Amino acid sequence: MSAVLLKDPLTGPDIVVRDGVLGGSGDGPGHGAEVVDASGCLITPGLVNAHHHLLQSAFRTLPGTRGVPMAEWLAVMAQAYRDYAVDPALTRAAAAVGLAESLLCGVTTVADHHLTWPSGIDPVEMALAAADAAVELGARLCFVRGSAGDVADTAAESVRDIHRAFAGFDPDMLQLAVGPSGVHTDGPDTFAALAEVARDLGLLRRTQANEQVDVAVAADKYGRRPLELLDDWGWIEPGVALAHLCDLTPDEIALVAESGVAVTHAPGCDVPMGWGVAPVADLLRRGVTVGLGTSGGGSNDGGHLLADARLAVQVSGLTGSPVNASDALAMATSGSAAGLGRPELGGLDSGTPADLCIWDMGDVADAGVHDPDAGLLWARPGRRPRDVMVAGRWVVRDGVLLTADSRRLATHLNTMIKERTA
Ligand SMILES: [Zn+2]
Repeated sequence: MSAVLLKDPLTGPDIVVRDGVLGGSGDGPGHGAEVVDASGCLITPGLVNAHHHLLQSAFRTLPGTRGVPMAEWLAVMAQAYRDYAVDPALTRAAAAVGLAESLLCGVTTVADHHLTWPSGIDPVEMALAAADAAVELGARLCFVRGSAGDVADTAAESVRDIHRAFAGFDPDMLQLAVGPSGVHTDGPDTFAALAEVARDLGLLRRTQANEQVDVAVAADKYGRRPLELLDDWGWIEPGVALAHLCDLTPDEIALVAESGVAVTHAPGCDVPMGWGVAPVADLLRRGVTVGLGTSGGGSNDGGHLLADARLAVQVSGLTGSPVNASDALAMATSGSAAGLGRPELGGLDSGTPADLCIWDMGDVADAGVHDPDAGLLWARPGRRPRDVMVAGRWVVRDGVLLTADSRRLATHLNTMIKERTA
């Protein structure tokens, strides 16, 4: 039996971790437990990034992707995927970098909405590339078999293949979900085919809605709003999570609130891209499950979810219905976890998996802070945790990744990118 005692945190009781599970504060750690000094530190649940595109970690700050309309952005990204010949090797290298960055930022679970399926390459190999990276690094991964204009039946069949290939992995660490990119890329046949396979296999469904091009295509092609189409196609209901949801109308807020669909806010993408801001305060007030995601490196160069929780608070001030730091932290933890169908993650309750972060609040950037929970977000922008644990296993100690050499991962990806343009 392994036991860890996290002693004297800044707020809350000591925490005991026993065999990967959080123990009650009344339980002793037992003889021989590892004792970790958490004095001057805040302990939070591991953060849950409910919307990432890990492949885009290979395409940060790509020329032509900033300050342009979304239609241009999509075209530049698609060309880059062809120019750099996306394949399982690049997918794995990018996923490893994105997941290592996530762990170093306190993110213990990542939902990877993968949308790039090069012709001639088995989708199972692409999915296994991301899954293998997650296993190597010790991060929890929800791999989303996305579609961006794929043939409906082919996409659905590959979900069954990937599901079979994932059978040998620990289901607590690796989930599979399905997710068309949105009504701008996929029609009702793809949404129906992926919903059917999700029902058969018990998978969650995820998609994106109400970004610039999504709204424009829905209007031009169907004369409708994206959420009207998704509602008609049976995708506004429990078991579905919708990312982005920029600039909802009051009727759309009501539709979302009454349906039981979950939402993922992604301000680190939506704000700089000019796509609008999801009205998260209104959604939270109406009881909607709201999680937080970074989206990918093609639009948001940092996979730093705490920074985006901070941004969510900042930008909410402009929407006329502000959220506070504890709302934003709840989105980045329990909200994201609930939307992934993992209510046991994203909290520090006794008996739940020990995914947690220890944040050092003892230096000058945090001096004078009266409310440590609020200070976690507001003070020290770009803050990273001192220590991170996933399922009771240390993956980061003293700010260093333990499960892989993070600099080697960075060099590996950079070398691969250079070779492919040589
Ligand atoms: Zn996205």
